[in-house]
Amino acid sequence: MTDQSLTDLEIEEQAPIEAVEFRGLSYPFGRWWPAPGELKEVAAGVLWLRMPMPAGLDHINLYVLDDGDGWVLVDTGLRTDETRALWQGLLAGPLGGKPVTRVIVTHMHPDHLGQAGWLCRHTGATLCMTRGEYLTARMLMLDQQEEPPVEAMTFYGRAGWDGEDLEAFRGRGWGRFGNAVTPLPVQYHRMRDDDALTIGGRTWRVVVGRGHSPEHACLVCEEAGVLIAGDQVLPRITPNVSVHVAEFDANPLEEWFDSLDRLKLLPDSLLVLPSHNEPFHGLHARLDQLRLDHERKLDRLIERCREPRKVRETFETLFKRPITNSDIMMATGEALSHLHYLEGQGRLRRQREADHDLFVVP
Ligand SMILES: [Zn+2]
Repeated sequence: MTDQSLTDLEIEEQAPIEAVEFRGLSYPFGRWWPAPGELKEVAAGVLWLRMPMPAGLDHINLYVLDDGDGWVLVDTGLRTDETRALWQGLLAGPLGGKPVTRVIVTHMHPDHLGQAGWLCRHTGATLCMTRGEYLTARMLMLDQQEEPPVEAMTFYGRAGWDGEDLEAFRGRGWGRFGNAVTPLPVQYHRMRDDDALTIGGRTWRVVVGRGHSPEHACLVCEEAGVLIAGDQVLPRITPNVSVHVAEFDANPLEEWFDSLDRLKLLPDSLLVLPSHNEPFHGLHARLDQLRLDHERKLDRLIERCREPRKVRETFETLFKRPITNSDIMMATGEALSHLHYLEGQGRLRRQREADHDLFVVP
């Protein structure tokens, strides 16, 4: 489970702080970012830090909010020794003067949630999440089996996977999520859409987005002029919008579009603090770009499905690079989110064959 769509990958080099404009967005810190273990104040009382991730995404951005007599952490990094050691250094060093009181997690993906359980136990902080994210994470952590359930095999079989792909999938077992995150506290503070949190004497409003994850929390502080966007708005990556086994007939792209519309009601002047790439101005332009990216994919799919196609037969239309066994699950989820959206609009029809589905223009 990763954050980015398979359509775009970039790794860049660090440079001096110098504002840059790129593809309609402006980056006040340019191509600069904090080194591991470093904190950078990006707005009054809002600190930016980075934790490492494997090639591809390369890093996740985390934020620390000054709460007067304590710190509030937003997102936590992967469950790796490297990330753990960096946190230990920060807690003993620059953050050492006062306690961590709350750990807010925008959504349950392991790069955001990975160290949350450990941080809460280690510091005594309260975990704050939306219910959809907390319960989904708890469910996935408890669901570990030797082999995938029959529903999962059927789900991918109907998408057109061949025997080799299905056997490789079976061999990987089921429930790897539980190993990717530290055990969560059994209690949490539930954040709801439009909740107002008081942090550092200022109001931070929760704005829930859907489509990338069940109930993704963004945080807006108009007084500080910032939007902590999580994975809901990324400047140069198209966030992954996928159909998963558990909600096999979902239409997450429709929810994603609705969320883009909601976020567009926020002021365009906010400094957007994303989970990947760098802080930027240009919220509305980026929301438009994200929509356009999906609309182009939808148009290409319509062309592709003039003849009946298996899900697997749409990959070359959607993704710039060939799909291998290691990313076939994500590719299938993303292809299905677009196909289900078109099916919901009546622009494609699903034909049920004995052991696979076909999508075709009616
Ligand atoms: Zn994510």
